Amino acid sequence: MSLDGAYDDDNIFAKILRGEAPCVKVHEDGDVLCFMDIFPQSPGHVLVVPKARARNMLDLDDGALKAAVVQVKRMAKAVKTALDPEGVVVTQFNGAQAGQTVFHIHFHVIPRWRHQPLGRHGGGQADMDELKQQAAKIAAALD
Ligand code: 5GP
Repeated sequence: MSLDGAYDDDNIFAKILRGEAPCVKVHEDGDVLCFMDIFPQSPGHVLVVPKARARNMLDLDDGALKAAVVQVKRMAKAVKTALDPEGVVVTQFNGAQAGQTVFHIHFHVIPRWRHQPLGRHGGGQADMDELKQQAAKIAAALD
């Protein structure tokens, strides 16, 4: 998938945004849907997904991008409060060559601990009960 091209309405995040596929939700407002990554790179890995129909950040209009980045910061703070990590990584990939695998714009918020190595991007599937517990803690910590 190059940086250019048409938006695919059947991508998994479009289906989640339409309620046609499940997710473990942390937060939703008019701009974004935030949910747990099902193949987390560390416990508490959250995705911030703008609702705008855009494949990547280059396609996203500035207003939607600003709103999303504010939510990314808010989510990083909530992850810090809820899970007490030593660091928080924020990533965002544009195009397959950059590591993007789902072609709907999204940001990763990934807590880090010194003694916990970062899992593989898109690695093993998480336990659903654990994801729900983490989501509830993070949602409760949102300002
Ligand atoms: P990308 O590689 O495009 O930046 O990230 C896509 C992310 O979406 C990956 O971290 C992957 O684990 C996650 N992901 C893929 N499919 C699903 C899904 O069906 N549900 C959830 N919650 N996350 C998904």
